[in-house]
Amino acid sequence: MESSNTSAQGSTVHWGKNEDSSIPMTFVEAVGKQSLIEGSRRLEGVVLSKMNFESFVRDLLLVRQYRVEVYKNKAGGKSSKDHDWQIAYKASPGNLTQFEEILFGGGGLGEGATGVVGIRLGTGGDGQRVVGVGYVDSTLRKMGVCEFPDNDQFSNLEALLVQIGPKECVLPGGDMAGDVGKLRQVIQRGGILLSDRKKTEFTTKDIVQDLNRLLKARKGESVSSAALPEMERQIAVSCLAAVIKYLDLLSDEANFGSFKMTAFDLNQYMRLDNAAVQALNLFQGGSDDPTGTHSLAGLLNKCRTPQGQRLVNQWLKQPLIDKNKIEERLDLVESFVEDSELRQSCQEDLLRRFPDLNRLAKKLQRQSANLQDCYRVYQAVGQLPGLVLALERHTGKHQVLLTGVFISPFNDLVSDFSKFQEMIETTLDMNQIDHHEFLVKPSFDPTLSELRESMDQLEKSMQSALNSAARELGLDAGKTMKLESNAQMGYYFRVTCKEEKTLRNNKKFTTLDVQKNGVRFTNSKLSSLNEEYTKNREEYEEAQNAIVKEIISIAAGYVEPLQTLNEVIAQLDAVVSFAVVSHAAPVPYVRPKILEKGSGKLILKGSRHPCVEAQDDVAFIPNDVTFTKGEQMFHIITGPNMGGKSTYIRQVGVIVLMAQIGCFVPCDEAEVSVVDCVLARVGAGDSQIKGVSTFMAEMLETAAILRSATEDSLIIIDELGRGTSTYDGFGLAWAISEYIATRLKSFCLFATHFHELTALAQQVPTVYNLHVTALTTDSTLTMLYRVKKGVCDQSFGIHVAELANFPKHVIANAREKALELEEFQNISRVDEEGADAGPEAKKRCLEKQEGEKIIESFLAKVKSLSVEGMTDEAIKAELCKLKADVVAQNNSFVNEIVSRAANVKMVSL
Ligand code: ATP
Repeated sequence: MESSNTSAQGSTVHWGKNEDSSIPMTFVEAVGKQSLIEGSRRLEGVVLSKMNFESFVRDLLLVRQYRVEVYKNKAGGKSSKDHDWQIAYKASPGNLTQFEEILFGGGGLGEGATGVVGIRLGTGGDGQRVVGVGYVDSTLRKMGVCEFPDNDQFSNLEALLVQIGPKECVLPGGDMAGDVGKLRQVIQRGGILLSDRKKTEFTTKDIVQDLNRLLKARKGESVSSAALPEMERQIAVSCLAAVIKYLDLLSDEANFGSFKMTAFDLNQYMRLDNAAVQALNLFQGGSDDPTGTHSLAGLLNKCRTPQGQRLVNQWLKQPLIDKNKIEERLDLVESFVEDSELRQSCQEDLLRRFPDLNRLAKKLQRQSANLQDCYRVYQAVGQLPGLVLALERHTGKHQVLLTGVFISPFNDLVSDFSKFQEMIETTLDMNQIDHHEFLVKPSFDPTLSELRESMDQLEKSMQSALNSAARELGLDAGKTMKLESNAQMGYYFRVTCKEEKTLRNNKKFTTLDVQKNGVRFTNSKLSSLNEEYTKNREEYEEAQNAIVKEIISIAAGYVEPLQTLNEVIAQLDAVVSFAVVSHAAPVPYVRPKILEKGSGKLILKGSRHPCVEAQDDVAFIPNDVTFTKGEQMFHIITGPNMGGKSTYIRQVGVIVLMAQIGCFVPCDEAEVSVVDCVLARVGAGDSQIKGVSTFMAEMLETAAILRSATEDSLIIIDELGRGTSTYDGFGLAWAISEYIATRLKSFCLFATHFHELTALAQQVPTVYNLHVTALTTDSTLTMLYRVKKGVCDQSFGIHVAELANFPKHVIANAREKALELEEFQNISRVDEEGADAGPEAKKRCLEKQEGEKIIESFLAKVKSLSVEGMTDEAIKAELCKLKADVVAQNNSFVNEIVSRAANVKMVSL
């Protein structure tokens, strides 16, 4: 779409969800009461203002993920016959090119990648089933192919889709057989829009020729795509062909010679399944987090440019595996963490000055840019020397790296653009830019200078028209009465609404409109001067047209360096954003020590969940995490509801991911071995993914984990087996845990309500029990959120029921039943070292019972204090005395609580 104006008048939006959607939803935006007849159907219509139209289209495409078609009336929508409508623009979530101006014109938030994938199943050379994927991102002008074998659950495909994050997927239609059904489920679970295309579109017939046209050639070479190594992956290439066809890339010449083929290797990034993306809350979550502030993306994305925001979102989906690359990113982040002056000036000032350079590059490429766009490029490049200067002042230990990654590329870009800058300076009329007019310098052409002279003269005359009109009305020219102009009306006078009375009944003046900020009006003198001015201006634009065209076509030659600038700025913005977040956290994050994959160590001291701790009402209790290969690899976490189990296991995943994207982590100290994937199984109750709340789906997902995990993977399981009978659920939870602990040997955290599972620690030496703790007193249940070794030796369920005023006999009955399970309790009290409840454990148990008594008596004393008439100081003193009594009893259980007391959060029931 050339300009967003075209969209409003006489256009029709026609939208429907999937092509196979059974709900035919259509929408017509027409002028007046017209409506559209499409074929034999008359469609309902509503008139929308331009602004509403834009936000509506944005909502349809970006939020609801619908396809949108805009129909235009051949006759311009004024006196048309109904059947004169024809399609003018269309877009789908994966192909927003024609709607870019509307969607991102306002410099809106940078969306993540918006691509389309084609997927087809085939058979590889060895007779094994392979999945072929072809991928096109028309925003970033990238395409790629990938082929790999996969299991029945399509775990590899799922991970790949998370990494590239497409919005749409095309599949060969008609095929609904077993495997394909599962494939569709995997795609839909990722929230990707599915479209069926003809099978014949998945062909490699014309692909060589098509790619020769679309791909960018290296300097001085022509493209010979037949020789590309990617072409060997025939199944994937056929998918790429289908996507090219779907996006109709060959119909627009602007696409020619502009795409890059990128290799996509499934194993270059950490793999994440959809459940992990959900469990780690990477992106904007469901209804409980509409703003996305509780997501990791919301937390880490403090970028100042749209390109930076896009990059952080991409990094989140593509955590690194290569230790060197991770260290390099951490070095960069560290530079900005340590240099607060540089960090602040980049974040608060320098980066803000850069527009969405990728959008500008694309406009230049399509030659749809105007002088203003060229000026914005000029301005952006003009900011580079200042940025370089600021970076050069840095004297930290990674100075050389900063030079290599930022300073040198920026310096190179300044020299690449030197001719461009010169061109803009010599051609653009800088005096007029202050008035937001983007015109060619008058000195460029005699006609232009003549027109400019006359326009300047007219401006002067208009100024004197203002003076005489103000005199006539008894107002102060330039103060109470102003001369202003805008693009629609040209020049006009304006007074505030207060002065409106002076105009009343004065026939010499014509009111143009009345708005909140005043009355706009004109008189015959001004209006004739304005008319002449407008005419001159139009002539000026016409006269400069040829020169503008020339400028735009020269500017189009700068697409490549502009894209490079876009990338380097994005990287700087993303790195600075990580540094800002790491520094500004409630407790600053630390640099993790990264160990090579396979080192089998994951040690986090004082770790926190970055999103939970950022919530206003939470005083977060840090916890430790210890994994050591061959010693502790599987942690079972039990404890009361709302005790912090989920938070604990998820924070481990989040921290590992943060470390691998090169960000500092919310810990006091962290040692992280690179993991190849984070896989999650979140209990049915917690899952927000639609349609997986059945036991079967839960089992299938877990099966997928079991097949794709390795000993370098991190597995997070929350509440497995809830969807079935306790016996089955427990049986499966046990079997799965045992399999992971003894065969896969992955890092695993398992939060569960099945206390029976804790007995696994006796059988498998690498399995450890952990529990979250709570304190119960008469009317409160106080969560301590402390993760401690061993099994939770107290069940809080009955206590909670009591607090919730359950009938007494029900409570009594429950207690009795619980006693019957005592035998089991004896087993579960075995502590994590696997030893029987020996004298040590017994002593601890006794200490605890005593401790609870001490606390109860303390609370009773506090309750009985008659505080009336006492000053605050006196109450404080009294409490200190009582506390001192408690501490004097030197009970280890109490001591620990007292040391943590400042952070304890009370949950009143
Ligand atoms: P359930 O068994 O019902 O699923 P849970 O044990 O998994 O509960 P979480 O959902 O992890 O409990 O935590 C409940 C709430 O407790 C969280 O929303 C958070 O506000 C708070 N919380 C969790 N961990 C901590 C912590 N370490 N410090 C402070 N508050 C915490």
